Amino acid sequence: MGLIVIAVLCASAIIYREQVPVPIVSALSPQVSPVASVFPAPEKTSYQMKLRLDVANNTLYGTTLLNTQNTSGKSMDELWFTAYPNCFQSSDKTPAPLEAYYAGFNQGWLRFSLIKVNGQAVQFTEKGASIQVKTASAIAPEENIQVEMTWRAQIPRLKYRYGSNNTVYMLGNFYPALNVFSKDGWHNSYNSVFGDPFCFQSAYYAVSLNIPNAYNMVATGRTVSKTAEDDGRDTYLIEARDARDFSLLVMYDYTEIKEEIKGVTVKCYFPSKHSEIAQQILRKSGQIINYYASQFGSYPYGEFKVAFVPMQGFHGMEYSGLIFLREEFLQTGYEPERSDFILAHEIAHQWWFGLVGNDQLREPWLDEGLANWSAYKYLQEVEGKPIPSGLEYKNGMNLGKELREMYSSQEYYRTAYNGGEAFWFGLEKELGHEKVIKVLRRYLADYKNKIATTQDLMDIIKLEAHQDMSGYIYKWFPPKS
Ligand SMILES: [Zn+2]
Repeated sequence: MGLIVIAVLCASAIIYREQVPVPIVSALSPQVSPVASVFPAPEKTSYQMKLRLDVANNTLYGTTLLNTQNTSGKSMDELWFTAYPNCFQSSDKTPAPLEAYYAGFNQGWLRFSLIKVNGQAVQFTEKGASIQVKTASAIAPEENIQVEMTWRAQIPRLKYRYGSNNTVYMLGNFYPALNVFSKDGWHNSYNSVFGDPFCFQSAYYAVSLNIPNAYNMVATGRTVSKTAEDDGRDTYLIEARDARDFSLLVMYDYTEIKEEIKGVTVKCYFPSKHSEIAQQILRKSGQIINYYASQFGSYPYGEFKVAFVPMQGFHGMEYSGLIFLREEFLQTGYEPERSDFILAHEIAHQWWFGLVGNDQLREPWLDEGLANWSAYKYLQEVEGKPIPSGLEYKNGMNLGKELREMYSSQEYYRTAYNGGEAFWFGLEKELGHEKVIKVLRRYLADYKNKIATTQDLMDIIKLEAHQDMSGYIYKWFPPKS
């Protein structure tokens, strides 16, 4: 069946078998950072999840133990979570194109049988893509928070970033994830037919995954161990540090190839044919990671994975340490002009979205514009290809639009992607390439594993520019009327 074998990376991992250890949460405040009041604090947040996939019913059974601390600076009486599978409950609201439902429309959802906060069962209400959890009593500032959840996720028969074709399970944003609270309030997800409606803090993940042994899996982070159970199933233990999110692929009859490129093990997963193109993409991925690392700052994870999946509606989807590309990439001649660009764009998200997070609902231009511009710089500097100049929007546009203020996917792409890249091309014209790289290095250094806002970025630009930038910034962020 051409199954892959995941290397057991740590023999001492047997201790993980029942209780997956988490890093010790320090009671001491970290040094003051530019985003100290953002909740949850990445270094104080851990998810322990136990997952069991029932492939006969396309159901994922999960328990979550989430540990964090009230770092909001305020007393909290509610917590909000994203439950992305609930976006797939009806055919008129699903973000997936209807043709991706290869077996006709069928539902996806995330349901809870129990939620406890600090040991007490609590009330919870489903509100669109989010879940509101009312705590039994107020949580004081600096108080530790432990959330226990028992849930199950229905996986639709759907070729999408959340869905399955019965041999491959694409599990992006499948689990309940704690939303972010900042000085602007809760950054809650909502359903949107375009864009990535997410805003999460980085966290530590320790995940136990139980799947039938005929299947294999790829996940964010590293596989610590694999244990054969007596019932024909395997249990994997997976650990991910400083992960913006945890993504998972469970698949049948896939092949793995890998190569170490300057300290990063790049791995490609694909349906058993097509090895030649996968090999090329593997090599190119290493080259792209290298380029970005040399320009912006190092890639911090030991592994980077590319998985080819049945997915319609977009070319690729980024997660921490892992990207999904649609399997059509493996066909000769697929998007010949654009395939390198798409790969470079998705990999750039490891820096702009993964390492430096942003609210992709309120400020989607931040990660998408930078991912586009970074990809073009790679094509120009490494592959010697001509790139657009951003001249189409040289007079600026309003980049400050939220996802919900855009009325079509065209407007979204024009603003966040084309407008976003034009902002950076224009900035290069104003300041020169070297200064722009200085800005980005500082942006990465200051906001690594945190969440940055447009204001944070503009502050860095003003600092590094050593010239008045107000006219330039005004062109892209006209005051709201
Ligand atoms: Zn993107």
